Amino acid sequence: MRFKDIHGLESTKSLLRSAVKTNHVAHAQLFAGMPGSPALSMALAYATFLNCENPTEEDACGECSSCSKNQKFVHPDVHFIFPVSSTKNVAAKDTKSQLFLKEWRNFLLTTPYGNLQDWSEIYGGEGKQALISTKEKMTIINDLSLKAFEGKFKVMIIWQPELMHKNAANGILKVLEEPPDNSLFLLVSEQPDTLLTTILSRTQRLNIPSFTDQELSEILTSAHGVETSRAKQLAHIADGSLRTALYLSAQVETDNFNFFKQWMRNCHQRQMGQLVDQSDEFAKLNKAAQSTFLKYGLSILREALVSLSTTQDKLFRVEGDEKSFASNFGKVISTDQFQKLSGLISDAAYHVERNANSKLLFMNLSINVSKVFLKK
Ligand SMILES: [Zn+2]
Repeated sequence: MRFKDIHGLESTKSLLRSAVKTNHVAHAQLFAGMPGSPALSMALAYATFLNCENPTEEDACGECSSCSKNQKFVHPDVHFIFPVSSTKNVAAKDTKSQLFLKEWRNFLLTTPYGNLQDWSEIYGGEGKQALISTKEKMTIINDLSLKAFEGKFKVMIIWQPELMHKNAANGILKVLEEPPDNSLFLLVSEQPDTLLTTILSRTQRLNIPSFTDQELSEILTSAHGVETSRAKQLAHIADGSLRTALYLSAQVETDNFNFFKQWMRNCHQRQMGQLVDQSDEFAKLNKAAQSTFLKYGLSILREALVSLSTTQDKLFRVEGDEKSFASNFGKVISTDQFQKLSGLISDAAYHVERNANSKLLFMNLSINVSKVFLKK
C-alpha cells in the first residue's frame, strides 16, 4: 500500500510525509478513523514510505526491495498485532496474531477498509469475540527488541488496540513510551475514546478523515465501474464508509428513489391497496437491499430537513430529481413530523435484519407513516 493507492486525503498524507522529511517521526502514533475510513491503509502506506529505499517527494518508490515486501505485507521489520479468537483449528488458549498472518495478509490485500466482522470471516472466527490477548505483550516487546533487519525503522502496527486485553495494554506502556531506537508504534483505532488513558497519553493522535461523498463516488466510478448517478447515490447512503459503499455497489441495483417517492405519496394519500403492493415488492428484496432502501429513505429525509434551513446549494448532498423531491418534501411537513418519520424508519432499519416477516414490517411501517402525515 502506498499513498497513491488511497484516494484523496492530501493534507493527511502531506502531514505524514513532512514528519519523515524533517526527522520528526513520532514514536507512537494513534491513527483514529471511523469504520470504513482509510485509517489502516494510511498506516500501511506510511510504513511503506518510512522504509522505502528511494522515496520520491510524494511517495514510496514502489520498486525497491523494501517496497516490494511491503506491497505483500511480508517486510521483516513491519510487525502486526490484531484481534483474533479461537477457530476450528486453533484453541482459545493458543490464539495469537502470529498464527493468522497468512489470513491477515489476505485481509489487507482484499479488504483493507474492512471491519472486525470482515476480518473474522477471513480467519474463521465468526461469531466469537476477537481480542488481543495478554500473550501479545511479550510478542510486542520481543519483536521490537530485535535489531531492524533491513529497514530504516521497525514498525509495530496494532489494529484495533481497543480490543487489547488490559494486561497486555498495561504491559506495553513502558515500551510504548520509550520504544527502542528507530522503532515506532502505529495504533489504528475505530474507537479511540475507549482506549485506556494511559495508552492515549503515550500516543500522538492523528485523526484520519472519512471519505467525502465526492471521493467515495469517484472511487466507485473509477475503480469499480459503477455508473455516475448510482455512485453518487450510494456514496450518499454510505456516509463516508468505503466498506459500506463497496458492499452496496455489489448488490443488485434497485430504484430506491422512485420506490421511495411512490411510497411517500401512497402513505400521504393513504392508498392502502397500493401500500399492500409495495409491501409485497419490499418483501421480495433481500435483507441487504431492504436495509439499503430504508437507509436511503433516511438520507432523503435528512436532505429535506436541510432544505428547510437553507437554500445554499453546497449543503445538499443530492442533486437533480432527488434534490427537487427533497425540497418539495421539506415544504409540506413540519420538523416534528420529520423526527417522527426518521424514528420510525430507523427502527424499521434496525428490525429488518431480525424480522422474519418483512412484508408485515413494511406494512406496519407504512400505516405508522400515514398516521404521522395526518397530524401536522
Ligand atoms: Zn521503495
